[in-house]
Amino acid sequence: MLEGTTAELRERKALRVNPAKTCQPIGAMYAALGVNGCMPHSHGSQGCCAYHRSHLTRHYKEPVVATTSSFTEGASVFGGMANLTSALENIFTIYEPEIVAVHTTCLSEVIGDDIPTIIKKAIESGKIPEGKTVIHANTPSFVGSHVTGFSNQCEAFVKYLAETGDTRKNTITIFPGFVDPSDMREIKRLATAVGVEFILAPDASDVLDTPYDGHYKMYPDGGTKISDLREMGHTMVSIGLGPLASTAAVTSLQKKCGVEGKIAELPIGVRATDEFVNALRVAGDTAVPAWLDAERGRLIDMISDMSQYLHKKKVAIFGDPDHVSSMIDFVTELGMEASIAITGTPGKKWERKMKAKAPNTEVKAFSDLHYLHQWIKNNPVDLLMGNTYGKYVARAEDIPFVRFGFPMLDRVGHRAFPLVGYAGAMRMVEKITDAFFDRDDRLLPDHEVELVQ
Ligand code: SF4
Repeated sequence: MLEGTTAELRERKALRVNPAKTCQPIGAMYAALGVNGCMPHSHGSQGCCAYHRSHLTRHYKEPVVATTSSFTEGASVFGGMANLTSALENIFTIYEPEIVAVHTTCLSEVIGDDIPTIIKKAIESGKIPEGKTVIHANTPSFVGSHVTGFSNQCEAFVKYLAETGDTRKNTITIFPGFVDPSDMREIKRLATAVGVEFILAPDASDVLDTPYDGHYKMYPDGGTKISDLREMGHTMVSIGLGPLASTAAVTSLQKKCGVEGKIAELPIGVRATDEFVNALRVAGDTAVPAWLDAERGRLIDMISDMSQYLHKKKVAIFGDPDHVSSMIDFVTELGMEASIAITGTPGKKWERKMKAKAPNTEVKAFSDLHYLHQWIKNNPVDLLMGNTYGKYVARAEDIPFVRFGFPMLDRVGHRAFPLVGYAGAMRMVEKITDAFFDRDDRLLPDHEVELVQ
């Protein structure tokens, strides 16, 4: 499909071809689904909402429920106040959520709808039932990406719900970043292992990876409870995983409720997981159990066993900024070299940070897969790592391809197996080495195919 891509690289300012990102409301919708009893609401036209739902469904292989203000020409000209007001009334009457998380779309942002005022008027006119909650996040998709949308929704949890006051409980808040439910489950396993009391916000495990039991639940049992989102304001410390996805929420919690915050990289790879585990240990004043140390040791053993096959291999990485940042570090831990690392999410600060830590890596934010492909044509790599969309580049250049991140539309492993933590790192070592071995088994002449690796 991409075999005709030329090697001639041209600087493009206004055009993205196969952008390495998607739109803000997708992140906001995902974050809202991680709250128990929550209905995400898309304030815009039906097409946006249908696309966002289907994209999430294709990644998580689960039904994704969300409502829409269903803009038509009238709302586009006169504003969406009437649509949102009736939508809220209908949603609480028909679908009975505990909370509605409204996010905007390009259209409602261009119109300039004042969502807080619309919500306030709906409450004052009795359209919101007693005890039910409505929050909102602005998610204009002409800036940022799905990661920005996720971040804005997490910040909205704090701004609307976190309680103020001097009461402090011996609990920590963890903002997991834009990671899969399997990762959120692993983050909880690590926090439980270290023995800390925590609130994970949001938590999409047991929402978008529910077991099959023959019954459909519009609001699955999982998700962060609203009472816990309120309690975030009384926690001792917050840890935000992934600077792009979590800084806004951490900063907001600190500012609003005085909860001391720490930003850490996504715990992908050895060092980033060590740092997360240590941050948990320090925050909870607890100890790391011996079995977790042993799990780490098995990862180190696996890396040292496989390092002979990975040494100095050149890797091209693309995906969300927080994922790419941690993955650069992880491939370096494995003895490989990150030749190029791009994200579609805009961010000059991210670009500077990556260049500082990986000066020999070609780094670009707000970039696309066409650029990545052309760059690879001029600078061949041994391995490509990224989401589903990379497979066309890998196929055109016949490069081993290891999938990670969002979206994953053509595989299912991300639902069951984490990318984060020591367990996630072990799985990635397996996937990376297998990708090299599979290629050798396929391409080497008979007499060079090894039985034992
Ligand atoms: S980019 Fe804007 S208009 Fe397009 S689907 Fe996303 S929110 Fe809707």
